Amino acid sequence: MSARASTNPSQAALDILQRNNIKTAPVPVDKIARTLGALVRFSPLHNDISGMIYIKDNVPIIGVNALHHPNRQRFTIAHECGHLVLHRPMITTQVHVDKEFPSVVIRQLNRDSRSALGTDDVEIQANRFAAELLMPRAFLETELRKTFDVDDSTRIEKLAKQFRVSKEAMGNRLSALFSSFSG
Ligand SMILES: [Zn+2]
Repeated sequence: MSARASTNPSQAALDILQRNNIKTAPVPVDKIARTLGALVRFSPLHNDISGMIYIKDNVPIIGVNALHHPNRQRFTIAHECGHLVLHRPMITTQVHVDKEFPSVVIRQLNRDSRSALGTDDVEIQANRFAAELLMPRAFLETELRKTFDVDDSTRIEKLAKQFRVSKEAMGNRLSALFSSFSG
């Protein structure tokens, strides 16, 4: 990864949580999208498409695949908010469509392997933003201190429910943050 945004994706997400005084999970991602001025629209899309974002008449429009699981929809909204915060010029000139994520990109991102999608810095940044927004490190640290006595897969399941994200997203997040995590 060579290109770097001037804004750190994780820090941008933390700033938004702080500004909205959000201190517990699940993070209200719809509300966050609204405070960023975005309209969120749910409609049935092809299964490969998670969502999209574009700006029309200065209003950011986030499209979400209504056929996907609600937790995945939440990640999509968070990801699109990341584009809005980090990549506004890009979505002003074109409709940005997200396909086949989050699993592929996140897995690539955290395990440091290579894939076609992984070369896309813009997507990596939006996913970093989304992961921090929905699963803030500080929130997870607090929760992990409470649940030290259970095995990793039980923890992933419990935290995924609590944070309203997929088990896969939570597992990836935990193993990226905490090297001891085997999830
Ligand atoms: Zn994207």
